[in-house]
Amino acid sequence: LKRIAVLTSGGDAPGMNAAIRAVVRSGIYYNLEVFGVYRGYAGLIQGDITPLNEGAVGDIIHRGGTFLYSARCPEFLEEAGQRKAVTELRKHQIDGLVVIGGDGTFRGAQRLTDLGFPTIGIPGTIDNDIPGTDFTIGFDTAINTVIEAIDRIRDTASSHERTYVVEVMGRDAGDIALWSGLADGAESILIPEVSFRMEEMIARLKRGYERGKKHSIILVAEGVGRGMEIGDRIKEETGFETRVTVLGHVQRGGKPTALDRVLASRMGAKAVELLIAGEHDKMVAIRNNELIGIDFDQAFEQDHQPDLSMYELAGILSI
Ligand code: ATP
Repeated sequence: LKRIAVLTSGGDAPGMNAAIRAVVRSGIYYNLEVFGVYRGYAGLIQGDITPLNEGAVGDIIHRGGTFLYSARCPEFLEEAGQRKAVTELRKHQIDGLVVIGGDGTFRGAQRLTDLGFPTIGIPGTIDNDIPGTDFTIGFDTAINTVIEAIDRIRDTASSHERTYVVEVMGRDAGDIALWSGLADGAESILIPEVSFRMEEMIARLKRGYERGKKHSIILVAEGVGRGMEIGDRIKEETGFETRVTVLGHVQRGGKPTALDRVLASRMGAKAVELLIAGEHDKMVAIRNNELIGIDFDQAFEQDHQPDLSMYELAGILSI
C-alpha cells in the first residue's frame, strides 16, 4: 500500500473534517501518500482528486461540514459509473480508499470492493442510524445543538404556560429524539421504534397540567411524522396552547463537540490501519469504547436499534 484516498459522501455531519484530518495525518505517519477526492463519488468519477499534505488539513478539526464537500451521485449507482471511479483511482495509482458517510455511501463502497478496489468506511451521520456501531460521527454534536435549542424554548415555555412540540431529525431512527429528550427532560418522546399511543400522551400532558406543571415539551422524531400534525392533535384534544418548532438543518451544522472530534480522530486512524493490514469491505465501528472493523454486510444485515432502556428511563423520570 503506497497511496490512499479519502472522500465524504451523502449528508454532511460535524466531525467529518476531523476524520479527514486523521486519515491524512495517520496515513503520512505510516509513510503513505494521501489524496483527497472532492464531492464524494461524483468527484471520484470525474477524477477530482488532489494530494493532501499535513498542512492541507490544518485548521479544520474544529469546523463543521466537510472541506472535501459531499454529494449524492446517481451515476455511481450504475456499474458503468463505478467502473469509471475505479479507473480514476488506478490512474492516480491509488490502492486504497476511505469513504466517510452513511449506509448509501457504504453500499457504494461495497461495489468498489466487488470491482477489486479495497475500501474502508467510516460512519459519519448525525442520525446515529448505522447498525453495528454504538455511535456515528456527528451525532453528539447534533444532540447538543438540539438540547441548546430546547433549553431556550424551555425559558420561553415556562413564561407562557404552553405545550411545545419540537420535531427533530433522525430519518427512520429515533436516537436524536431519544437522547436529547432524556437530556432535556421532555415530557414525552415520540420515536419510530416504539409505537406510541396518542391517548396516553394526552393523558400524561393533562396529569402534568393538573399537578401544576407550567409547560410541557414533546419531542418528535421526524420518522414518526410531522410535529405540526401532532401539535394540532394536542391542541384539539386538550385545548392547551401549543407551539410547534421544527429544528431542521441547524442540527446538521456547527462546531463538532469534543466527543465527535475524538471519535472522528480515532476512527480516521483506525481506517488507515485496517487498509494497511490488508482489510477491505469493512466499516470502522465503536463498541464499548473499542474500535473495530466490521464487515459492511454485518452492518446492513441487522436493523439499527436505539437503546430502548433509555426510553423507559425517560418515561420514569418525566412523570
Ligand atoms: P446519509 O444517509 O447520512 O445522508 P448516505 O451515505 O446514506 O448518507 P446516500 O445519498 O444514500 O447517503 O448515498 C450517498 C451516495 O452513495 C449516493 O449518491 C450514491 O452515489 C452512492 N450509493 C448509494 N447507494 C448505493 C448503492 N446501492 N450502490 C452504489 N452506490 C450507492
